[in-house]
Parts: sequence; structure tokens; C-alpha cells
Amino acid sequence: MSRSGQMRLGTTATVVGTLIVVVLEMALLTGVWHLGDGLDRQRQAASTLAGTLAPLTPDTAPAATGLVRTAVDQVVAAGVDVSAGTPGAALVAGAEAFAATPTDPAALDTLRQADSALRVDLDAAATARSWLAAALHAALLLIATAGVLAVLRRLVDRHRAVERRLTAQQLVDQRERRLLALVQNSADLIVVVESDGTASFVSPSARSVLGRDPEACVGQHLERLLGEESLVVDRMIRAGRQGDQPVRVHLVHAEGRSLVADGTLTNLLDEPSVGAWVLTLRDVTDQHAAAEQLQHQAFHDSLTGLANRALFTDRLDHALMRRRNPGSAAVLFWDIDDFKHVNDTHGHSVGDRLLVVVADRLRGAFRPTDTVARLGGDEFAVLLEDIDEESAQMVTHRVLEGLSAPIEVDGRVWTVHASVGIATAVAGESTGEELLRNADIAMYWAKEQGKGSISVYDPMRHAASLDVVALQNQLISAMETGELVLLFQPTVDLESRAVTGYEALVRWQHSERGMLSPAEFVPAAERSGLVVPLGSWVLREACRAAMTLSADSAGPTISVNVSSQHLVRPGFVTEVADILADTGLPAVRLVVEVTESVLLDDFEAAENALNGLRDLGVWIAIDDFGTGYSSLSYLSQLPVDILKVDKSFIDRVCSEDHAASVTLAILEMSRSLRLLTIAEGIETEEQATWLAERGCVRGQGYLWSRPVPLADARAQLMDSDDLPDADAESVDA
Ligand code: C2E
Ligand code: MG
Ligand code: MG
Repeated sequence: MSRSGQMRLGTTATVVGTLIVVVLEMALLTGVWHLGDGLDRQRQAASTLAGTLAPLTPDTAPAATGLVRTAVDQVVAAGVDVSAGTPGAALVAGAEAFAATPTDPAALDTLRQADSALRVDLDAAATARSWLAAALHAALLLIATAGVLAVLRRLVDRHRAVERRLTAQQLVDQRERRLLALVQNSADLIVVVESDGTASFVSPSARSVLGRDPEACVGQHLERLLGEESLVVDRMIRAGRQGDQPVRVHLVHAEGRSLVADGTLTNLLDEPSVGAWVLTLRDVTDQHAAAEQLQHQAFHDSLTGLANRALFTDRLDHALMRRRNPGSAAVLFWDIDDFKHVNDTHGHSVGDRLLVVVADRLRGAFRPTDTVARLGGDEFAVLLEDIDEESAQMVTHRVLEGLSAPIEVDGRVWTVHASVGIATAVAGESTGEELLRNADIAMYWAKEQGKGSISVYDPMRHAASLDVVALQNQLISAMETGELVLLFQPTVDLESRAVTGYEALVRWQHSERGMLSPAEFVPAAERSGLVVPLGSWVLREACRAAMTLSADSAGPTISVNVSSQHLVRPGFVTEVADILADTGLPAVRLVVEVTESVLLDDFEAAENALNGLRDLGVWIAIDDFGTGYSSLSYLSQLPVDILKVDKSFIDRVCSEDHAASVTLAILEMSRSLRLLTIAEGIETEEQATWLAERGCVRGQGYLWSRPVPLADARAQLMDSDDLPDADAESVDA
């Protein structure tokens, strides 16, 4: 039952109850009121009878029999109980006896006593009636009070209920008014949409959000408000989805500017007070633009505006995922040559401006569909899709050429070169990360090749370089575990054929790969810087070995190959001095062999070191002479003592005129500069004779001996006139 129904029923019950109580009270009051009516008449009649009997004497009685009868009849008429045994019955009997014998004084007395007894009985009844009336009055009072209280209570309850109803109604009204005010004043656009897509309510904010009159939009299809985007909402309405549906629409303000609005479409068809769909939209154009800006910043380089590493790797990953033809995606890794130099000498602002120009040139040189990114510093990467390796190389060559066009910054003209590594994707095998890393590796190869080069990633070459890394790690422990050994190859006086000295040549007794020649590990040691500790070890071991051959300063010389890195390192000369002091080897017995390239790399540092060595009294030899690009001029400037003519000339000296004439020229120059000449790699007697006849002083080669262990070298010295057959004694592979 509804609440109002319950209220009506309660009210009726209260009225009926109240009426019953009132009627009951009236009836009781009336009953009590009339309770004593009969008794009073009876007592009145009995008193009248007593008054009639009182003056009578036996003499006057006969005349008063009529009066007495009337008085007795009145008593009976008043309703006195005359049933047998009652005082009434005794009175009636007495009256009859008196009527029969009025003169009999006994009959008169009997009548008087009967009347008296009746009055006593009636008085007692009157007393009892008074008590009953009092009790009834009390009960009446109680009932009346209870009734009044019940009615009052009911009235109070009703009052309260009414009050509550009123308050609730007021609240609802207030809430509705507030909601309405909110809707009317909301900055959000609120549209109540009927199922057919027409708007039945449009909040006033339509004016500010869309520049449209809300009233004019009511009754119109949503399309008038939202344009084409109404399709989005239409589709949702047709799908009849429940709950809140997020909505994002792109709108056009009446003034023509574009807006982005976010909101919800809510199905309120089941809500009786609405019975429609409610679309709320908020203008988020500014937030949207800010978010896009942030997004742009997160994925672009702030200096050049190019994609950054995050965006590049994302595009790369996607490209590799959707790649149709194997090898169709290529990554070009660009590194500007000598860019550090620009920054260091001309400042970062010049560097930055150069980078911006480079970025613009790169961006302009590739297709819009290619991704050009700045990975950081002077590193750029380009992702080319649907391209093979050959085309990627061609494109790179073209762009590299364009890049080197002069750039003017701060009135100064720059020419930018870059080294580029190219890697192409392998179907299903490469991830974006790998491809980028491969291009990076290829870029380093390009750098090694020389500035402005392009190198293509080659997995075989990479595997080999990985071996190098492993080799370097092993070399560290090899130095500690004594796996490195020195062999010694004699240098011989070409005329007397006596041993004049030895060249210390390092070997690695590798636990798994056997005896390794320096060609197999020295380049790796050079790349990692390990060549310095390696060189220190060789120097010390060679000097110690030389001392075991002879302690005399006239003893055989010991030649040690010193890498350019080691030579130009500050402290090298001191190190040599220390080793000489520690081992006791006279400085004049030590020959430091350096290659021509040392002098080209860092001439000044090399010159300083060589002068320091010369000051110590150490000999200096230029190794592999004739193979480098050295000019003759430095030979006169530098403290050089020995030229070692490279084996490549000696090999052909007896068979090729060209080699012979180069060798002759070297010998001639050497003589004029007062340098000692050692011919390397003499394998035949013919070569030895040819060289000896043309003034070459010393020789070194398999003709006399391969590099041998120290003990063999000692044996050779004992009998240097009769050097053993090289093949028979050799331990060198
Ligand atoms: P290098 O200093 O020019 O040493 C001469 C190389 O020619 C030695 O090779 C030697 O075994 C080889 N040789 C000598 N005579 C003949 C010959 O008649 N026929 C042929 N076919 N070869 C001959 P090795 O020992 O393999 O050394 C190669 C190079 O490794 C050396 O050339 C030197 O540049 C470098 N090297 C050797 N030991 C060291 C070292 O301790 N430190 C550094 N930094 N480099 C070293
Ligand atoms: Mg050498
Ligand atoms: Mg050599």
C-alpha cells in the first residue's frame, strides 16, 4: 500500500476510534447519571410511608387505612422488590395485616418495623450505588483521559508527518531548483536527446560553447548542434547501450574555430523524470592542445624538431612488424665527423646552429614518409621503408653529398661531413633495437674507414669483432696467468753473418686456440688500450731476457716493438728508464721499434718521446719502413737511428726492378742520413747477397732464424757463425 493510502487509513481509524470512545463515554455517563433514579423514588416512598405511620395510634389508625394503603402502593409503584423474603415482601404482608386489623397495635408496629427495615435496606443500596457511581466516574475519567491522549498523540503524529512531508517536498524542490540552476549555469553543454536524435533540452551554455541559440536548437536533430559528429552519438543511441558512454567529438564553433569536446552520453530512458538520453559535453580544446604539445615534446627533439629516439624506435618497431618484403626497411645511422671539435673550439651555440642546418638538410633530403630522427648529440638516424640495401646506399651517397654543401654560421663557412652506417632488416629476425644497433656498429666501421664514409652492416664482420671483445677479456687474464711468451729473432751483420741483436716478438700461448701470432691479438689490444700493459710487459721481459744473454753493454741489442699508443703516453720515457734501471740493461742495448704511422698520428708527442728515449741512450728504429706515408723530411728532424726496410720490398728485390730501385733509394737515403739499415724478412741467400753488395748493413729473416725461445737464442749466440737452419729449429708457426 502506498504511503498516502496508509495515511488515509490511519486517519479514518483515528476518527472511528475517537467516536467509539466518545459514545462509550456518553453512555457510561448517562448510565451513572440515572443509576440512582429508582432507588431515590423508593426511599422517598418509604419515607412518606414512615411519615404516614408515625402519628398513628390504635385509635386513629382505622381512619387512616386508606392513606396507609396509598403510601404502601406508592412504595410498591416506586419499584421496590417485593419478591418473597425481601423487606418489600414483608412490607406488603404487614400492610395487608394492618388493613385487616387497623386497631391492632401489633399490626401497626409490624407495619412500622417492615417500613423501617425496608428503609435500612434502601439506605444500604443507596450507599452501594454511590460507590458504584464513584467507581464509574473514575473509570470514565480514565477512559476519557486515555481517549483524549490517544487523539492528541494521533494529532501530533499527523502533524509531524505533515511537517516531514512538507520538509521533504521543500528539499526536493530546493534540489530541483539547484539542479536546474546548475544545468542553466553549467559551462558544460547539456543536451537531452530523444531516441530519434532530436534535442528536447539544450542548456544555455550552447551559446558559449558553440555560439548557438539553445532555444533554437530544441526540437532540432542533433546534427544542427554537432554537425557530422552527431553520427557518433546517433550510433550509440541506436545501439541502445546502458550507462555512461564516453564521447569525444570535434566540433566547429559558429565563428568557425575548431573545438574538441569530451563528455558522456547517458541512457536515462528508464528514469521517469527524464526518459531520454543525456549528452554532456565539455570544451577541452585547450587541454587537448596542451596534451598534444606535451606529446609532441615527448617524441621530438627540442633543438631540431626532428623525431627523437623514442619516436624513432617506435616507428622502427612498427615498420618491422608490418614489413612485407624481407629486407625492405633500412636504418641509416649518421654521425657528424669532428663535431666535438666544433663544440670545443667554437662553442655550443655554433654547434647547435650547425645541427639545426644539418637536421633541415636531412629532413629535406628524404621522403616525407621516411623518419628522420636526432638520437642525441651529433647522431641522427633515418628509417627508410620499402627499400633494399643497394638503394639505401645510393640514397645515402646522394644525401651525404648534399650535406657537405657549405654552411655559413657567424660569418664563418663550415663544411659538414658525416659517417653513415647502414643496416637493413632481416625478415622476422631483427627487432628495431637490433637494427638500430647494427646501423650504429656500421657507423663506427665507417668512421674507421675515414671521414665521410658509408659502411654497411655485415653480420660476419660483427661476429668477428665480437670475437675481438672476447679476445680482449682473455688477454687480460693471459697477462696475469703467464700465457704470453716472447720469442726472439736475430738480426745479423750481412757481411760477417754474426748475430748483432734480437727482436723480441710476442706470442700468446692460448689455452684453447694454441699459439697465437701478434697479428691475431695485437690489433684487438690496440683497439681496447690493452696494448699499453701488453707493451709494458714485453719491454720488461725483453730487457730481462737480454740481460740473461749478456750483461755487457757491448752485448747483443734487443729490439722491442712499441705501439703508438704506448709511445705517446705521458710517462713512457720514465717507464723505459725505470725498466732499464730495474733490469740493469744498458740503454745502448735497447732498440725501440716504432712504425711510420706513429709519427703521423701525433707527431709532436712522438717527437718528445723519441727525444726522451734518445736522451736515455736508447736506439730508435723505424719499423716496416717504406709502407707508410712518411715524408723523408721528418727523418732528419727526429732522433732516428735505424731504418728497417719492410719485407714487402725485400721479397721482390731480386725479381722486380721497382722493388729493387725503391730499396736502393732507401739504402742511399739511409746512408746519407747516417742511419743503420736492417732489411727485414730475408729468406734467401740471393736476397742477402744482393743487399750486402748494395751496402745494407744488417738483415733479419728466416734465412738465419725464425723467432725462437730465449734458450735457443742463447745457443745461437754461443755459435753465431753457424746459425742453425731456420726451419729445423723454429717454434714459430
Ligand atoms: P715486425 O716488427 O716487422 O716483426 C717482424 C715480423 O716479420 C715478425 O712477425 C717475424 O716473425 C716476421 N719475419 C721475420 N723474418 C721473416 C721472414 O724471413 N719471412 C717471413 N715470412 N716473416 C718474417 P711476427 O712475430 O708475427 O710479428 C708481426 C708483427 O707484430 C711485428 O712486425 C710487429 O709489428 C708486431 N709485434 C710483434 N711483437 C710485438 C710486440 O711485442 N708489441 C707490439 N706492439 N707489436 C708486436
Ligand atoms: Mg719490428
Ligand atoms: Mg717489420
